[in-house]
Amino acid sequence: MSTTIGPTLHLMRVYDKLIEMYGEPKNEPDNDPLGGLVATILSQHTSDINSGRAYQQLIDTFPTWEAVRDAPTYLVAEAIRSGGLANIKAPRIQDVLQTLTDQQQAQGGKQTLSEYFYDELMKRETEEAWRYLQKLPGVGPKTAACVLMFHLNLPAFPLDTHVHRTSQRLGLILPNVDADKAHILFARVLPPEWVYPLHVNLITHGRQICHAQRPECSRCPLYSQCAYVGSVNAQETAIPNG
Ligand code: SF4
Repeated sequence: MSTTIGPTLHLMRVYDKLIEMYGEPKNEPDNDPLGGLVATILSQHTSDINSGRAYQQLIDTFPTWEAVRDAPTYLVAEAIRSGGLANIKAPRIQDVLQTLTDQQQAQGGKQTLSEYFYDELMKRETEEAWRYLQKLPGVGPKTAACVLMFHLNLPAFPLDTHVHRTSQRLGLILPNVDADKAHILFARVLPPEWVYPLHVNLITHGRQICHAQRPECSRCPLYSQCAYVGSVNAQETAIPNG
């Protein structure tokens, strides 16, 4: 993230073709990384609709993140019940809020948790902020990258299963690169303004055409760019018509 290597010709072709296929999605960051982190924790292992409902219920119930931190855990769990795994997510959220509180106290700060967290992230380089986030309880590489990219529009690249699968098949990353390493490699190579559109378009491509089982190679406009074609049995990646 701090080192920019520059995209390969292959990556440029794939990026352009995806834009042609799915358009250029625009990010609308809310500059609220703490709300974003809580929302991302709530989104784990559930649908966007359920986690959105749980988040809304949480902020309707408690007026501040400090109030969420100090509430009895069972009341937080009750508020987020619709998001699933409430008994795991409630203490996790409170753990994050308490950790940030302890950090700020150790530094002698007196900001709200939202202000403190925002400043902690923004004073760091993106890769450093991504690593800092992963030191918080229950925050992994993908959650950390989601917070930075979606909520602050910083060039961190979240790799969900669709993005990992499609980028491996297309030969953007080598087969032996695991998702954790790929977060860093991608973010170092991509121009910052490509990060969000490429992320969103690879997800769309994974959902619409490049499925985990039986990818629809015969109608895939990326066929001629794809490393997967020819690496598996011919039936799986049949030559497109026309
Ligand atoms: S050609 Fe097949 S494997 Fe390659 S990106 Fe398209 S759908 Fe996926």
